[in-house]
Amino acid sequence: MKSVNTSNAFACVVDGWFDGAVQHRQRSSFVVDRGRIADISPGDHGADLERQGLTVYRGGFLLPGLVDAHAHLFLNGKPTDSKLRSEHLKLPLEALTAAARASARQALACGVSIVRDAGDRHGINNRLREEARKQDSGLPQVRSGGLGVKRPKRYGAFMARDVEDAEGIRASVSELAKTNDEIKVILTGIIDFDAGAVTDEPQFDLESAKLVVDTARACGKNTFAHCSGIKGLVIATQAGVGSIEHGFFMDRETLGIMADKGVAWTPTFCPVHFQWAHPEAVGWSPQTVGNLRRILDSHAEHLALAQKMGVTLLLGTDAGSMGVEHGYAVFDEIDRYLEAGLSLSETLTAATANARRHFGMADSLLAKGGGFDAVLTDHSPFDDISTLKRPVKVWPTS
Ligand SMILES: [Zn+2]
Repeated sequence: MKSVNTSNAFACVVDGWFDGAVQHRQRSSFVVDRGRIADISPGDHGADLERQGLTVYRGGFLLPGLVDAHAHLFLNGKPTDSKLRSEHLKLPLEALTAAARASARQALACGVSIVRDAGDRHGINNRLREEARKQDSGLPQVRSGGLGVKRPKRYGAFMARDVEDAEGIRASVSELAKTNDEIKVILTGIIDFDAGAVTDEPQFDLESAKLVVDTARACGKNTFAHCSGIKGLVIATQAGVGSIEHGFFMDRETLGIMADKGVAWTPTFCPVHFQWAHPEAVGWSPQTVGNLRRILDSHAEHLALAQKMGVTLLLGTDAGSMGVEHGYAVFDEIDRYLEAGLSLSETLTAATANARRHFGMADSLLAKGGGFDAVLTDHSPFDDISTLKRPVKVWPTS
């Protein structure tokens, strides 16, 4: 084991680890120097490293920091009362920013080291992203969707601005691309749970969706599309968006095109699952609860199919939605992936490496020479999944 002579270095000795793709079952010693992995050696070199003056953290398991690929930091998922939720949206900017900060801190405490914010109309997500860049901010890294784009009088006012025509799309997307990490397009409305379907027409036709994608691309930005219902899904895939968010009512054919074109998928089971598990929060009838179950079952079936067909999966929760709490929701979403039949390794890849790769980050895996952005747990999640809920230590990207 090579020696490191710096006060910025520390070590981590674990019984096993997951690099973002593969589980390693042997005891290993990590040396981290100025935020980068200087060495990974088999065996326990803790005593040696301590003698060199390094702080040595010990634990059962190490994995990359979790990524929530779809959250709304300025929204609080905890209150389920609709009046409280709409009052929250009317809070002054500083109060909403404080709420976003609290959401981000809560996510980090749960082991989430990167949050992709899927839009807020005030651009609080951009502000949080800047705060998170400061040393010891206590915040996860924020990848910001800033404000998205939507059609006038259609769904999405809390997270997007209106674009009326082609000129509006070009102007808005070019302007938003200066501050957003990705451009969010609200391609469809939301699911009508009583009807058990997406009942309204997509907000953007293929031509205008393509214009959003192409304008963003010309500005060097990827796109992500709020989209459910087959009409919207066909448009999103044909337009070549970077990722489809939610994607309820998916079908096999669309998954095939997504795999071919490299369109990623963030299925976000959490908000629908919450309403199925707690119908009293909204007052759903037994028939609507049946619709919710059917929608979730079909979603799970298509998630398993997507994994088999090679679609890139991004684990995201839609935290901030009713009943979907920042950080904690990641564990629920992991449970949904496992229930759908994905292995824990596949699920954790969706929750770690896939998003980093999709976001174009330099390091998607825990590897020698790469950045150290990791969670230490007491046990291996492959032996006891609940260990993920009690991280011993979380290191966000430095
Ligand atoms: Zn969302």
